[in-house]
Amino acid sequence: MKKRTKKNLIKILGVIVFLIFTAIVSYYLDFANEEKEQDTNTYKVAEKQNFNLDIEGKLQIHFIDVGQADAILIKQDEHYMLIDAGKNDSEERLVNYLKEQKITKFDYIIGTHAHEDHIGGMDKVIDSFEVDNIFFPKQTATTKTFESFVKSVKSKDKKLYAPNSGESFNFGDATFKVLAPNLQKYDESNNYSIVIKLTYKNKSFLFMGDAEELSENEILKNNYDLKCDVIKLGHHGSRSSTSTKFLNEVMPSAAVISAGKDNDYGHPHKETMIKLQRANIPVYRTDESGTIILFSDGDNISFNVKEGTYNYGR
Ligand SMILES: [Zn+2]
Repeated sequence: MKKRTKKNLIKILGVIVFLIFTAIVSYYLDFANEEKEQDTNTYKVAEKQNFNLDIEGKLQIHFIDVGQADAILIKQDEHYMLIDAGKNDSEERLVNYLKEQKITKFDYIIGTHAHEDHIGGMDKVIDSFEVDNIFFPKQTATTKTFESFVKSVKSKDKKLYAPNSGESFNFGDATFKVLAPNLQKYDESNNYSIVIKLTYKNKSFLFMGDAEELSENEILKNNYDLKCDVIKLGHHGSRSSTSTKFLNEVMPSAAVISAGKDNDYGHPHKETMIKLQRANIPVYRTDESGTIILFSDGDNISFNVKEGTYNYGR
C-alpha cells in the first residue's frame, strides 16, 4: 500500500513538472514570436556607446539599416536631408523611422541613381513628407520603381534636378558640394551616382552612392579637396569601388558600409576590407550593427555603435 502511494505521488509530481515545463516553453515561444513581429515594424538602434551627449543635435547622420541597400538621413538642427530610400519592401519601415524623427520637411532628397536598392522607397517617402528639392542624375529607367518615383515627384508638383559636378548648396549651418557624376552618359548605372561632400564646421563627410572606380577617377581628375573625416563607401563595399588611389586621397578617419547581412553579392568584398585594415581605418557596418548614428559638433565625431570587423563576404 505504501509503495503504491509513493508511486502515485511520483506520477503526480511528474505531471506537475511537465505542465510547468510546457507553460514555460510556450511563454518563451510567444515572447520570441512577438520580438520577431516587432522587428519587422521598427528599427532597433543599438545602445549608445562612446557617445557624448553634449553634441547631440548639432549634426546627426543616420545610416539606416535597410538591408542590402542605402538610406541615409542627415539632420542639422531643424534641417533634413535624405540620401536614397532603400528598397520597395522596406519602405514602410523607413517611413516609420523617419516619422519617429519628427521630420516636418526635407530640404533635400537625393536619389543617387536608378537602382531599386536606392530609390525603391522614394515614392513612399515623397508621398509622406514635404520636400523642397529632389536631386536625381540625368538617368532614366524603364522599371516600375522608377516610374512610381517619378509619379510621386509629379504629384507633389516637383521636378527632378540634376546637379552639376562642382555645384555647392547650403544645408542649415552645413554646406555640400556635388563631386559626381561628371559625364552625361555611362554604361554602368552605378556611375551615374550623385556623390556629395558635406562640410559641417571642421568636419566633412563623403557620400559615394554606388560610384565605381571609373567615377572615382573622374573625381580625382577634377582636383577637388577630397580629404574627409568619414566616408560612406561606394557600392556597399564592393571591390568595384574604393580604389587605393581614391582612398589615399580621401584619407578618412572612419568608413561606413551599408550592406545586408550575408547578402548574395558578398559585400563588403575582401579587397576593400583589406585596404581599410591596412590603412588602419575603423569601419562601421549596418550589416553588423544595424542602424548607425553619427554625431558631430563640428569638431568631434562619435558613433552610437562600436567599430565593426574587417570580415568580408563570399
Ligand atoms: Zn546599391
